[in-house]
Amino acid sequence: MPIRSVIEKKRDGQTLTTKEIKSLVEDFTVGAIPDYQMSALAMAVFFRGMSPAETYHLTDAMIHSGRILKYPAGSPPKVDKHSTGGVGDKVSLVLAPLLACDDVWVPMISGRGLGITGGTLDKLESIPGFNVNLDEKRAIKQLEKIGVFVIGQTDDICPADQKLHALRDVTGTVPSQPLIVASIMSKKLAENLDRLVLDVKFGSGAFMKTKDDAKKLAQAMKAVGESMKVKTSYLLNPMDEPLGRSVGNALEVAECVEILQGRGSVDLIKLIVDLAEKISETPRGQLEKRLKDGSAWKKFISLVYAQDGDATQVENVLEAHDAPIIQPFLAKSAGKVKKMDAELIGRASVALGAGRKRTTDAIDFAVGFSQIKKVGEKVEANEPLFVIHARNERSIVNITPLIEKAVEIG
Ligand code: URA
Repeated sequence: MPIRSVIEKKRDGQTLTTKEIKSLVEDFTVGAIPDYQMSALAMAVFFRGMSPAETYHLTDAMIHSGRILKYPAGSPPKVDKHSTGGVGDKVSLVLAPLLACDDVWVPMISGRGLGITGGTLDKLESIPGFNVNLDEKRAIKQLEKIGVFVIGQTDDICPADQKLHALRDVTGTVPSQPLIVASIMSKKLAENLDRLVLDVKFGSGAFMKTKDDAKKLAQAMKAVGESMKVKTSYLLNPMDEPLGRSVGNALEVAECVEILQGRGSVDLIKLIVDLAEKISETPRGQLEKRLKDGSAWKKFISLVYAQDGDATQVENVLEAHDAPIIQPFLAKSAGKVKKMDAELIGRASVALGAGRKRTTDAIDFAVGFSQIKKVGEKVEANEPLFVIHARNERSIVNITPLIEKAVEIG
């Protein structure tokens, strides 16, 4: 069927066949469908939605637009997690080595930050030398040695998603449930996993603003995962305030070092262990112990070392990225923190240079926020609500309206 008829069919709310979806994705991947027609189709899907079967076939076609990771026969179970993203979400940096303490492999293909959502790869790259661009042969060898890698998307994994995501980004078609499901699940399922846990966020700093929408998205992703024989579970987690106490690349690595050395923010540790428990066969108490007794820390250091990072610099990452201006943002009155808005803090951190507005923007590893107060905590007047790390005075002036609005003391 010509692409025009497929667009019209979806525009009129009809269901696309498996064959139509398959050739749509194949033709788009090789450039036989122009961007303007694919954009029209994405908009039709945005308004008309897709049935569970259509979503499944779209995901399947996107997986097969590229390579699927292959492992040696008899290798341990493969496990991973995916987060729909948030502000201060540094979970992967701790969870990947923690899970790799089990007899499993953690082949983690991660993303970069875009908009207010931070990216695992950017955070890791604040460790001097850390290389996220391993080829598949080297990555599998690393699994054999230490059970974990954290790398970026390669051009031959889900190329259809790379092209489609770029189009959706500029055509207002990102927030479409079937398109999000196919995009996320195609990339994760191309890792050829046995078990996957999804951390689906809701709230001001998340894609999904309500818990209800987050649940629908999570259920749709789980349905696709399970029908492809991957044991898929999910957790719904709020993202109204930043996760943990820091936002910004090197600052978040420093916070992860604290956790991996048995200290750190309680909300973050709980989330990491909650997610680990969903895919690990190890009891919760043992998982907690691995954060305290140095096992996960050792694994993290092996990961840094294996991926060319300077392991001696990990504990000094803030010295390697020292922001020229470090100044507290003080509470105007005493009381309890009522709001620490994740979206506004996220936007302020992008404005400081910690994130990107466009995929081609450069990142400033040093900037962001640290020592962020949590909702419910008490503050005195003139006590710091957080500490700003900035490149120059002008960027602090720029973010002042955002951070003033982000905080409420009751
Ligand atoms: N993350 C993705 O990888 N794809 C989407 O469509 C949305 C979030």
